[in-house]
Amino acid sequence: MSRAKGGIQPTGECFCGCGRQVEAGAFFAQGHDKKATMYLDGIFHGGSIAARVVAHGYGPGGRNLRDHTEKLGLIERCGIGDCPESFTVGSRELRQHRATAHRGE
Ligand SMILES: [Zn+2]
Ligand SMILES: [Zn+2]
Repeated sequence: MSRAKGGIQPTGECFCGCGRQVEAGAFFAQGHDKKATMYLDGIFHGGSIAARVVAHGYGPGGRNLRDHTEKLGLIERCGIGDCPESFTVGSRELRQHRATAHRGE
């Protein structure tokens, strides 16, 4: 989360606008990425993540958000049996899920 993405460089100051100094390479103070997300949702989508999903053309009547995310290679489906759970590709959550959720199947 703290590496430069899309050519955006960290400046040493929190990107949420709070003015706090952050460690080298970080964009946000602890937890402030969530605040920034909340601010944007508030400004653009009335504070509703459902409205955000729909605004981007996903959800009921639109594209399937998870299927598209999976197609872009951002998430990986568990794939054990018919398990529909998906997680960030190569993540610890995915490994943990596979190791624990299907025990004894
Ligand atoms: Zn902040
Ligand atoms: Zn699973």
